[in-house]
Amino acid sequence: MFEKLTAQPADSLLALIKAFQADPRGYKVDLGVGVYRDEQGRTPVMRAVKLAEKQLLETQDSKRYLGPEGDLNFVNLLKPIIFGATHNAGNVVGIQTPGGSGALRLGAELIASATPGAKVWLGTPSWPNHAPIFESARLTVKDYRFVDLAKQQIDFDRVLEALDAAQAGDVILLHGCCHNPTGIDFDIQQWKQIAAKLVERKLLPFIDLAYQGLGDGLEADAEPTRLILEAVDEALVAYSCDKNFGLYRERVGALYLVSRNADQLKIADGNMASLARVNWSMPPDHGAAIVRVILESAELTQIWKQELVEMCARVNGNRAALAASHPELGFIANQRGLFSNLAMSKETAVALCHKHGIYMADSGRMNLAGMQPSDAAAIVKALSAEGTL
Ligand code: PMP
Repeated sequence: MFEKLTAQPADSLLALIKAFQADPRGYKVDLGVGVYRDEQGRTPVMRAVKLAEKQLLETQDSKRYLGPEGDLNFVNLLKPIIFGATHNAGNVVGIQTPGGSGALRLGAELIASATPGAKVWLGTPSWPNHAPIFESARLTVKDYRFVDLAKQQIDFDRVLEALDAAQAGDVILLHGCCHNPTGIDFDIQQWKQIAAKLVERKLLPFIDLAYQGLGDGLEADAEPTRLILEAVDEALVAYSCDKNFGLYRERVGALYLVSRNADQLKIADGNMASLARVNWSMPPDHGAAIVRVILESAELTQIWKQELVEMCARVNGNRAALAASHPELGFIANQRGLFSNLAMSKETAVALCHKHGIYMADSGRMNLAGMQPSDAAAIVKALSAEGTL
């Protein structure tokens, strides 16, 4: 049977990690893989996480199965953080998933169950896994170029055109904050226009919220999501704790369904659990238990929030340093989250890495957490040498 399979392309970011590690040069900068890094270039276990793990080690007395919905205390404790302290809890159901990826996959399968062959409108560039996840759940992806990388601007007319071209019931994928890979988010006026269009055209928003707290803080980063949810009758939210709790490999996420119709919401909730059952039976516990322990404790929550503020400030400080180091890079200071995506060819990205030791994805995506403010001059020098500036 295996002879019928075709070889799949290797993951270029993973190859980049290996190349960086093997690079003997004394000076090199890793702007490649999308994880937070501190001043020492490490991706540390957060203090709040370590404390919660200690507590779990001492107090956890069973590892019996929980069920396809995972740890519902974890799911419920996140709700006020995502939906606001005063959200209508009756309108939201959720399930724990293996990371934001699991939430996206489960949401895609739920959509496919309800509306076989549904269309998902995806503004590009986007996280490279979005389209394959939707397509592998048998949905049709309709993409539209919504960011002009040469101008580093959203082409909002393209967004409105896409929303006008979509048919009632089509799904609109939206990055809740900290857009990956561009760092370019809609402003509040644009979000309001999107919300009005979603209502007018009866479209279903699927919000991917994978970086809450890494843009302008937990509350500000949730504002667009809350604005959309206030406007529409139904929505899906795929959430990841893997970045804002630094839990990447533990695979911590949740899928939330929002609806004004309580009866339908209950049925959709049951469908979500059935789909989880046939996909992974139940999600891995440890990471979600850590988040639960943190959010159950006012003290640990305070420590986590403080660490997140520090992480966010560091990334935004790096943005400011790079923006200030060349007049053509000023836009980087206005973008948010870990990433910016410069307009460049693959050859240029490869040359930056081979000739200058500045590693970034071959799409031109840079992880701003991978640098120190003192690296800005070397990055600018390399970009200038390769004709990008
Ligand atoms: N959505 C976006 C936009 C992402 O960038 C990522 C991770 N890179 C995910 C979802 C998935 O996150 P997780 O690692 O929790 O599966």
